[in-house]
Amino acid sequence: MRIAIVGSGISGLTTGFYLRTALPACSIEVFESGDRPGGTMHTAVVEGFRFEDGGNGFLSNKPDSLQLVQDAGAEHLLLRSSDASRRRFIYDGQLDPLPESPPAFLKTRLLSWRQKLRVLAEPLVPARRDGADETLQEFGYRRVGRGLTDVFLNAMTAGIHGSTPEKLSVAAAFPLVVGLEREHGGLFRGMLARRKSGAGPGGVLMSFRGGVSAFIEHLAPLLGARWHLGCPVEAITRHPTGWCVESATHSGEFDQVIVATPAYAASAMLGETAPELSNVLAGIGYTPIAVVGLGYRHLDHPLDGFGLLTTSRARQQVLGILWESSIFPDRTPEGGKSLRVMIGGQRSPELVFQEPNGLVATALAGVAETMGVTATPDVVHTCRWDRGIPHYEIGHLGRVEACFKALQDRPGLHLVGNAYRGVAMNDCVREGRELAQRIAGHAA
Ligand SMILES: Cc1cc2nc3c(=O)[nH]c(=O)nc-3n(C[C@H](O)[C@H](O)[C@H](O)COP(=O)(O)OP(=O)(O)OC[C@H]3O[C@@H](n4cnc5c(N)ncnc54)[C@H](O)[C@@H]3O)c2cc1C
Repeated sequence: MRIAIVGSGISGLTTGFYLRTALPACSIEVFESGDRPGGTMHTAVVEGFRFEDGGNGFLSNKPDSLQLVQDAGAEHLLLRSSDASRRRFIYDGQLDPLPESPPAFLKTRLLSWRQKLRVLAEPLVPARRDGADETLQEFGYRRVGRGLTDVFLNAMTAGIHGSTPEKLSVAAAFPLVVGLEREHGGLFRGMLARRKSGAGPGGVLMSFRGGVSAFIEHLAPLLGARWHLGCPVEAITRHPTGWCVESATHSGEFDQVIVATPAYAASAMLGETAPELSNVLAGIGYTPIAVVGLGYRHLDHPLDGFGLLTTSRARQQVLGILWESSIFPDRTPEGGKSLRVMIGGQRSPELVFQEPNGLVATALAGVAETMGVTATPDVVHTCRWDRGIPHYEIGHLGRVEACFKALQDRPGLHLVGNAYRGVAMNDCVREGRELAQRIAGHAA
């Protein structure tokens, strides 16, 4: 079987890895527009400081990434986040610890007593089961009230999606939460039921020794593929016995084509072959986000925790700051400390499109205002993702359904990636593995 994988982020790599495992005799060619595999998963090394350009790992509460690491024989690379970094903070005009226990919740300054009582009344709120697409804000206001939504859900949304609750479809972005209401009648009831069944709450952040690139570099060769780097695919067209993948420098004919690029890139390459599919793909929007890494050889701040997220109403220019060297101490030279500052998102997309100096200035202002740190970093690194994270707006699930329906008439053509059913590494890995299993199942 001749297989093409277009796009070698974690989605394409996972699909290729499991295809190689299931179909040892298949031939795989990877087309990648960039000069390296990994997509947004990339570690930049600057004077001994390691800065992740995208995600810094995955949560252990879902099995998919851990399973991939094991299947790929990469356990020796696994790095658990430091237990000293468990404390998280929210900046809502001032810095407060995220309450992680019932007594801490009752004591937190982040909500008024009235707002806390509203949260505690959640089990009394009737369940909505009509399947209507709601924003996270509508869902939150309905179930737990404005206070928790405007502070906690707002900050969490900035951290995971770079978005805001009024812009995200709750069913697309947080299907588990919607499932708790649908299946158990409410969030508290659902969480209790999950706890009884042994399902863990948040999991632990895991990464890789040396950064996420260490895992990508381990995984990519295991595909046993012929690689075409710096080779953007321009079109995918039908061929009498399958599909033709076309780029300026290399083209080929394949039985199976896995399109693992962002949706806008997939849309462009499928415009001629599948115009209606291409249109739906073009409707999947993206959130711009910039990451600024700040490295300090000596910093007089304990960085005693995981970092902070800001709320929209705090009117901060930064979405959040990860205290990276506390989470993964191997990210700095001996004695050093590092921060990663997230900028832009749906709150202030214009901030992303600044020159590197402007990004650093925005990051430093955010660090000074939220943490009181005014020291000049010894090392800075910037990374701009103009279309960084797919934006799961209202209507997203319908668009995804339309995309996969359109594929039913096109056997051998496949879509996978963070644009569809989850943006986290765990989601990408799950989707990639399941796609490989389906293809291998049909081939058997
Ligand atoms: C700043 C940031 C922080 C994040 N933090 C986390 C986190 O902490 N935890 C977590 O779980 N997730 C995180 N994520 C999300 C997660 O990392 C991504 O969703 C995931 O890595 C996406 O993988 P992918 O393979 O689907 O897409 P991508 O990584 O976008 O890969 C797509 C690939 O397709 C290639 N491509 C594009 N066009 C073409 C073309 N025409 N021809 C050939 N190739 C093409 C691209 O070059 C790229 O290599 C973060 C994302 C960002 C941006």
